[in-house]
Amino acid sequence: VDLHALDARISVCRACPRLVSWREEAAVAKRKSFADQPYWGRPVPGFGDEAPEILVVGLAPAANGSNRTSRMFTGDRAGDWLYAALCRAGFAAIPTSTHVGDGQRLQRARIMSAVRCAPPGNKPTTAERDACAPWMAAELAEVLPTVRVIVALGGYGWDAVLRSLRDAGVRIPRPKPRFGHGARTAVELSGGRCISVLGCFHPSQQNTFTGRLTEKMLDELFADARALCAP
Ligand code: SF4
Repeated sequence: VDLHALDARISVCRACPRLVSWREEAAVAKRKSFADQPYWGRPVPGFGDEAPEILVVGLAPAANGSNRTSRMFTGDRAGDWLYAALCRAGFAAIPTSTHVGDGQRLQRARIMSAVRCAPPGNKPTTAERDACAPWMAAELAEVLPTVRVIVALGGYGWDAVLRSLRDAGVRIPRPKPRFGHGARTAVELSGGRCISVLGCFHPSQQNTFTGRLTEKMLDELFADARALCAP
């Protein structure tokens, strides 16, 4: 399976009835400020370099963000923070990501989410999370040969990354490493190559508005990720 074929398969998935309804209803109702825009209204595939060194893993698309634009973290405030930080760190071509065709391009980096459809209240159920896990596993398997660092956004992203690696047969340290901003664990892949998993507070408005996550914190984290990527 190559990434394009995988994207095509993901984009037509209808395995979770509640999320199918939510994503499609959001695409019909539309937020007032986007009333003149078409909505994607489908599962959102990963975005970025097909042979990334850094992989960023988020929770799920936002109903009026990537569920509208079809590109991860594109068209919402969390994405504004994330792409600006990726650009400052040299991983993104431009500091914004507003729509497909805006010139954004990730270099050595890729973004994907644990759950591919926008969930109500940004909270997928456990069953929905588990239903979507094979898509994350399939994409991870495609890109892992080049990945050196995985940046897990929020506790949800952290758990999803460790679970997906464990399901792929990677030994996860015990007790399970705890999530925190700057948390770091190293795991050994088959063949003996080690990769790092870094925890990062999610750039949600809840965190950025309150100052729990600052630009400086993001910059320091991506500087760490860059250093870990260095040969
Ligand atoms: Fe399919 Fe994942 Fe969307 Fe569920 S959340 S419908 S498994 S793409």
